[in-house]
Amino acid sequence: MAPRLWAGGALIVLLVALIGFAAVAVPWHRAPAPRADQLAALGQFPADQVARSRAFHAELRPLSYAGMLLGLLIALALGLTPLGARLVELAGRPFGDHWLARAVLGGLAVVFVAELLTLPLAIWRHTVVVRYGISTQTWGGWAVDLLKSFGVGAVLGGVVLAAFFTVTHFAPRWWWAFGAAGAAGLVVLLSFVLPVVVEPIFNRFTPMADGPLRSELLALAERDGVPVKDVLVADASRRTRAVNAYVSGLGPTRRIVVYDTMLTEATPGEVVSVTAHELGHAKDNDVLTGTVMGALGSAVAVIVLYLLGSWTGLLRLAGVESIAEPRAIGLLLAVTTVAGLIAGPAQSFVSRRVEARADSHALELTGDPATFEAMQRRLGTVNLADPDPPSWEHAMFASHPSTVQRMAAARAWAQGAR
Ligand SMILES: [Zn+2]
Repeated sequence: MAPRLWAGGALIVLLVALIGFAAVAVPWHRAPAPRADQLAALGQFPADQVARSRAFHAELRPLSYAGMLLGLLIALALGLTPLGARLVELAGRPFGDHWLARAVLGGLAVVFVAELLTLPLAIWRHTVVVRYGISTQTWGGWAVDLLKSFGVGAVLGGVVLAAFFTVTHFAPRWWWAFGAAGAAGLVVLLSFVLPVVVEPIFNRFTPMADGPLRSELLALAERDGVPVKDVLVADASRRTRAVNAYVSGLGPTRRIVVYDTMLTEATPGEVVSVTAHELGHAKDNDVLTGTVMGALGSAVAVIVLYLLGSWTGLLRLAGVESIAEPRAIGLLLAVTTVAGLIAGPAQSFVSRRVEARADSHALELTGDPATFEAMQRRLGTVNLADPDPPSWEHAMFASHPSTVQRMAAARAWAQGAR
């Protein structure tokens, strides 16, 4: 049987697995609380505060859309014209046009050009978040972060490019099978490795000082049946005023991480409430669910790329003979950028439902909807979130339910529990 038929069959099997897994693992039936309750929650915010958060987002909005549009145009220019192929050739020239040099240096050059062209928007964005007092970073600190993320991206990207094109080079007919398995394996590996290896590059983590709060958080985890190794404080204040907390690691390495900003901005009760939400993610294995869906999704993506590779019109536009050669990196970027824009809203929808489940968990665990609501008000206020954002924008991009949806859900829970 021809590789293409096998690829088609594998694609169908993976899609069925992805849809089946999502159907079971995602808490689909968690519609937001009634609109009237959301509006009542909105009424709790001072009008000038809502106006300020909306002014903030009105300034960021054009930058976000311009960034998306520019990113798309750059990717299409590099992928649907011979421009990307030229760039890859250029990067490989000092190394005698070797395919591995083209793959790694050419790939990094393509990504770097795209990053560089959108850099002005990132600079503009930083001026806005500083002016509104969200970011506490100097330009020096901001630039160091940028260079660090370029460095991490270059190392990770270089390894992925080298691995992918080694496979396409030595298995020109069956690369999609190895590539799909490799992509899925990489997603699994990264979800274990990133919190331990990459997070410390950007933040310092220190154990929370002994005291009533630390004891209470550990007791909360114990009561929840989610054992944690430690409670850590991240030095987020070097970068931001925003508050947050999360649980990372799996099994015996699991730890609660609290932003240091949370300890100065929020009450201990609110820290407990946020942590209870995070423990919900751990208890419901949300990291694992995301990893499985990401692994299946990336395997699907590799096979779709392979099948797209027989579309000669597309290859002609990019000026390449095969989608599996390093000169086609621009085309790969174009296809993945378009796919990312299409998949984004679906990912956001799933994320919102998962977050709503973690909110319910926090309410069940603490039995304290009043503090939960106060915590949501605090998060929204400090982080300058629009408590009730435009509905289509929320549907397209929001990873969490809106502040008023979360506050209304707490009230609904309180009424049900009474
Ligand atoms: Zn969450």
